[in-house]
Amino acid sequence: MKKVAILGSTGSIGTQALEVISQIKDSFSVISLGAGKNIELLKRQIKEFCPQKVSVLDKSDADKLSVEFPNVEFFFGENGLEQLVTDKDVDIVLVAVSGKIGLKPTISAIKHQKNIALANKETLVMAGDIVMPLAKEYGVEILPVDSEHSAIFQCLNTGASSKIKPKKLIITASGGPFKDKPLQEIQNATAKEALNHPRWNMGRKITVDSATLMNKGLEVIEAHHLFNMDYDDIKVVIHPQSVIHSAIEYEDGSVIAQMGIPSMHIPIQYALTYPKRITGIETESFDFVKIAQLTFEAPDFEKFPALKLAFDAGKKGRTFPTVLNAANEEAVMSFLDGKIRLTDINYIVETLLNKHVPIENATLEDILSIDEKTREEAKQMIEQLLCSR
Ligand code: MG
Repeated sequence: MKKVAILGSTGSIGTQALEVISQIKDSFSVISLGAGKNIELLKRQIKEFCPQKVSVLDKSDADKLSVEFPNVEFFFGENGLEQLVTDKDVDIVLVAVSGKIGLKPTISAIKHQKNIALANKETLVMAGDIVMPLAKEYGVEILPVDSEHSAIFQCLNTGASSKIKPKKLIITASGGPFKDKPLQEIQNATAKEALNHPRWNMGRKITVDSATLMNKGLEVIEAHHLFNMDYDDIKVVIHPQSVIHSAIEYEDGSVIAQMGIPSMHIPIQYALTYPKRITGIETESFDFVKIAQLTFEAPDFEKFPALKLAFDAGKKGRTFPTVLNAANEEAVMSFLDGKIRLTDINYIVETLLNKHVPIENATLEDILSIDEKTREEAKQMIEQLLCSR
């Protein structure tokens, strides 16, 4: 019986993880849930999964919930997540929160020797140079939940090949809702249009990132850290059907790809049950004939500069990816609030990357302070943009 803590239980990955777990209840017990402000959904999850500990964002919610569920221990705020991940009863922590909030609890979980099922790519983008060596030091597995990284992880785990380093990683991208749209239309896209993803049903932040292709850029940086690959050996290919979730290429020209229907249940389950494979939610057999056709295109770096910004920030390394992530996160939130245009996100990220003076061998404190400073600068830029229109 594996004991799981789920951070971000009411989000897109969190709810799907609980769907997976409810199918394989004999192998898993949910020890704790971390959520934000979706208290109604959280209450239903508490009733169904009977966790021992629960953390929410606000103290007032924690107080109210303690009255309703006297057998559950409640926490709140950043310290709340810390309490969940350091719990001695927990074996594996699913980090499924969105954005920078995932970083500190992931580091604490590693230091308490919990295996990590990582769905929060921002953690590795912000601080991959700290997180990966730390995981090695503490003997902790970082199991990717992101479908592309799960795919690469699965390709790398095939038999005798598992000891051979591939020549290349090939990360696939659906291309998002604006793949074939003219730049003009992308510029004026509303949040509703950006949130209308053709293949995947995901949280709001990641869906906007998918529309700008920043998501793919963040995934490139994530892959660099997870699989210790040079940026020049990571390729992105647009594959609108989202059936091949990513691939690896070996020196001899052989390519191994991982395929499946576009469902997050599969990578979530694999991260939780690894190295085992068991029957889960997706029981329908993969049907090549029904899929019939798979197509591929090169990414358009002109129309989607975010992908290039991310590659460049990754190659420059040091604290550039931290700036990329912070500027992007702030800009995406403003876009979702209807304040700025979709293409302003790239402008803000690029401007802040250009003026960034990097820190060598940055500590966690350095990273958090750069993150904060960048967010402040992004907010100022957004204000200026608003005033100039
Ligand atoms: Mg992904």
